[in-house]
Amino acid sequence: MFNKRIKVKQLLASEQTGHEVTVMGWVRTFRNNQFLAVNDGSTNNNIQIVLELGQFDDALLKRLTTSASVKVTGEVVPSMGKGQKIEIKAKTLEILGDSDAEKYPLQLKNRPSLEYLREIAHMRFRTNTFGAVFRVRHSLAFAIHKFFNEKGFVYLHTPIITASDAEGAGEMFRVTSLPFDGTPRNEDGSVNFKEDFFGKSTNLTVSGQLEGELGATAFGEIYTFGPTFRAENSNTARHLAEFWMIEPEMAFSDLEDNMNLAEEFIKYIIQHAMDNNREDLEFLAQRLAEEEKQKPQAERSEMGLIEKLEFVLNNNFERITYTEAIDILLQSPAYKKKKFQYEVKWGIDMQSEHERYLVEKHFKKPVIVTNYPKDIKAFYMRLNEDGKTVAAMDILAPGIGEIVGGSQREERLENLEARMKEMHVPADELWWYLDTRRFGTVPHAGFGLGFERMVLFVTGMTNIRDVIAFPRTPKTAEF
Ligand code: ATP
Ligand code: MN
Repeated sequence: MFNKRIKVKQLLASEQTGHEVTVMGWVRTFRNNQFLAVNDGSTNNNIQIVLELGQFDDALLKRLTTSASVKVTGEVVPSMGKGQKIEIKAKTLEILGDSDAEKYPLQLKNRPSLEYLREIAHMRFRTNTFGAVFRVRHSLAFAIHKFFNEKGFVYLHTPIITASDAEGAGEMFRVTSLPFDGTPRNEDGSVNFKEDFFGKSTNLTVSGQLEGELGATAFGEIYTFGPTFRAENSNTARHLAEFWMIEPEMAFSDLEDNMNLAEEFIKYIIQHAMDNNREDLEFLAQRLAEEEKQKPQAERSEMGLIEKLEFVLNNNFERITYTEAIDILLQSPAYKKKKFQYEVKWGIDMQSEHERYLVEKHFKKPVIVTNYPKDIKAFYMRLNEDGKTVAAMDILAPGIGEIVGGSQREERLENLEARMKEMHVPADELWWYLDTRRFGTVPHAGFGLGFERMVLFVTGMTNIRDVIAFPRTPKTAEF
């Protein structure tokens, strides 16, 4: 065993004094050759270590530079200074790893921008902002498993490499072991995938849903929580090429059950973060308030982060149909003043500006939009009586736009086959999917929640690159 240490979070929470402890962490600041602030990542709060003057070598003290790693043993005593209740009177101090102050890329004095921090993402966890963001992210991930576990859902690990390119959720990344030079070809010049690793063309998954449905139609209720990949060349603050998605799928469920579950789920994980990450959320709220101050008055949000989260917890999500949403847009002052860049009419795939108008200007709360035109939605969504809409639902969140996409699935084999034909989805490749409709089909529904979009919402960060450890976006795959 390397050593017994107490985590700073636990130490600060106990407020007990008079006993000896060992802490290990990284130096944040060192003042007056006496006061050492050490952070170990368990909380944004540092533990103050008091080094009595004369007790330690000057040579040792000189090495107490920002981000040097240290091991300190000493007595926990009440603190005289303001800002902390307890501190450690150091008995022994060991430097585990030096940190060259000249070369250390994170100079905390001149607050580094989020953009700069993305360039040094390998170090950014050591800032308060990213410390808070990633502890909240962890907590949300934990809450997700807790929520579904409590409800008896089975966690299903759907494959990351898939051979079906039928889902149509987005552009895919190819997975191959074929050489670029001398690629085996068929007579007609096309690539001979029979020679490839899997003997067929394969991709990174864009969604685990189709496999999820196989699980739901046996276990009743399943969820997936894993990485998904989309080679979409959209350089936005809301899209990643590699992101994490949560996809519950429920047998014996319709669209309304689906909406109810999604709303309950979102509230549950927010509540979990509010209960377990209060300090970090308060820090992030402060950060957001400062960021908002830089904006012109009209663009500032009306609520602070904590207020916003409480508001979401305490209010029902608005539920409207797509048709109602389009009517609201057509009646809106924004439309009449020609403020929308994109066209508004029944049948459009709503653009971000439209979604944001609905949630941020009109309803000022999360909105669930249902029953979209079938032509803009996937083949597996259940056709409504009207013959032109499907039982889809998207949840739109203030500041984020689409956070959930889901639907009741088409469980009727004939309808599904007809839709696949219309949409040129190859039925022979999806024989296994169609089998669920052949053998004991049931009404079922599910949705996909983009995890990073949820983390954005809860942390109040504005760019999706700042809520995933190592973002993959067009032209960047650093670290
Ligand atoms: P968008 O219109 O925002 O591109 P989408 O319609 O492509 O989303 P779905 O295919 O329904 O999204 O995926 C389900 C969820 O996954 C979305 O609601 C969103 O939260 C998330 N999501 C989709 N694409 C991305 C992406 N590129 N990066 C991060 N999250 C994503
Ligand atoms: Mn998309």
